[in-house]
Amino acid sequence: MKIGIDIGGSHIGVGIVNDKGKIVSKKEQDLKFDKDMKEVDIKQYIRDTIITNISEVLRTVGSPICLINKIGIATPGRVKNGVIKNAFNLGIREINLAKELEEYYGVPITVRNDAKCAGIAEKKFGALTFYEDAVFLCIGTGIGGATFYGGSLVEPKRNEGSEYGHMIIKKDGNVCKCGNRGCFETYCSMKSFKKQIIENFDLEESTNSKEILEFVKNRFTNSKINDIIDLYIDDLILGISNIVNIAEPEIICFGGSFVHYKEVLFNRLVQRLQNTAYNFDVPKLVLGTLGNDAGMIGAAI
Ligand SMILES: [Zn+2]
Repeated sequence: MKIGIDIGGSHIGVGIVNDKGKIVSKKEQDLKFDKDMKEVDIKQYIRDTIITNISEVLRTVGSPICLINKIGIATPGRVKNGVIKNAFNLGIREINLAKELEEYYGVPITVRNDAKCAGIAEKKFGALTFYEDAVFLCIGTGIGGATFYGGSLVEPKRNEGSEYGHMIIKKDGNVCKCGNRGCFETYCSMKSFKKQIIENFDLEESTNSKEILEFVKNRFTNSKINDIIDLYIDDLILGISNIVNIAEPEIICFGGSFVHYKEVLFNRLVQRLQNTAYNFDVPKLVLGTLGNDAGMIGAAI
């Protein structure tokens, strides 16, 4: 039995994933960080939340712990040799979850960056199944990526690579959480798109994703909205042109909360690329088909 765990910035999802890439049972729990929590407390809290939720999903299908033969973890931030480094969204600089959970469960634990996991899932069971050279671009709170050549994930020796979100598209541009300026994700993450809508229309800071999407959809002919979308698409195409010139994928698959903006952003992106001459060979562009479960499924593979 394979368990996939997706650690998000605000929740942890745990699922039992079968060999066909389907989630048999899953449990999701919001993470509630106390302001006074020290890094050591956050680590303990994440570890405990994972263990509790694994027990919960096992209970729902009536399986004992001993039937688990693999546990995979998808996490934000950089991962090296199973150690999660610099997960800024979680307030963690270093945590060796693989070692801690291996000692607890006695089975192999793999830890990978969440965009890589979602890309692996789309490659094996989703939109990228029939392509050899592909890029998966996860556009959500940040922008993560995964690259495939000849059907295999590119896994460099030093670090995981394909950090497309941190390629610089504007010199002296917006400050990024990585410490640089002008990173792709500071212009094209969904967080950045939502921030622009909130600021330009004086919306409440607390306006959630669903409300922003409705707000934009209901003002499709509003020129201010259209200008924001046009600028967003300009930057997105700039990033895509860099990716294509370097990686030359046959296809780019978009995942993350970007997929909810099909009419608002994706269709316009495709339209622009089809109707304008660019100095790169535009690959096929598609949206991921596995939705929010992609990270969990890919973690278990
Ligand atoms: Zn950056």
